Amino acid sequence: MIDFEVLGCHGGELPGRRTTSFLIDGKLAIDAGALCEALELPRLLEVDHVVLTHSHFDHVKGLPLMADLLVGARDEPVVVHASPDCVDCLRRDVFNDRLWPDFTRLPSPSRPVLRLEPFTVGKSFSVGPYTITSRLVNHPVEAVGLVVEKAGSALAVSGDTGPTEAFWEMVNGRRDLRLLLLETSFPDALADLARASGHLTPAALEREVSEKLTRPGLDIRLYHLKPAYLDLLYREIGALNLPGVRILETGQKIAV
Ligand SMILES: [Zn+2]
Ligand SMILES: [Zn+2]
Repeated sequence: MIDFEVLGCHGGELPGRRTTSFLIDGKLAIDAGALCEALELPRLLEVDHVVLTHSHFDHVKGLPLMADLLVGARDEPVVVHASPDCVDCLRRDVFNDRLWPDFTRLPSPSRPVLRLEPFTVGKSFSVGPYTITSRLVNHPVEAVGLVVEKAGSALAVSGDTGPTEAFWEMVNGRRDLRLLLLETSFPDALADLARASGHLTPAALEREVSEKLTRPGLDIRLYHLKPAYLDLLYREIGALNLPGVRILETGQKIAV
């Protein structure tokens, strides 16, 4: 069984709304949008791995602050697993000794607090007891959807994406999948913005689910709703009446 916990599940930040970060078994984070807002220091120290869907700020913002909190407090580095473009972005644009110190070399190059570990998009890799599989999705930067599997139970996360294909092939092929997390960012009136920025609206989500998902009986939860449009998004998603589809909530815990 996988213990899945929502640290943050919105596409932006306001009081009570945190950006995307999910915690698996207290040890493995998917995206780093809310690590330091959601976890007290003892729990933050338990996070050994972070898997990133892409380099956008709302998904990586917890990494530099976490590194600063944990420097000197851990024996082993926190391993950050990310696609090659995302690793490159973190090295050049975040941990570059200008925006933030290079915590991949601090407190010492031989015992740093963070280790950046690129994964091959489209392939599987192991992290402790988990097998993680990625597929490229449709977003302005290199971005992936993920399946995380442990001992025969799996969950899938779409990452930030507009209408996409390979992710659905991966999802449809998984008999072990229990939980499917799908992004839905903007209301239907902002469909042009959603298309241009690689996101889904409720209408686009309905097309994706009804036309591309062939795997029945999944628990489907929507996330990455933009906080500025929450009321409208709740109304539009409610009106879809899609079976098995609910909106993910901050702090929610789901046994997968
Ligand atoms: Zn995002
Ligand atoms: Zn994004």
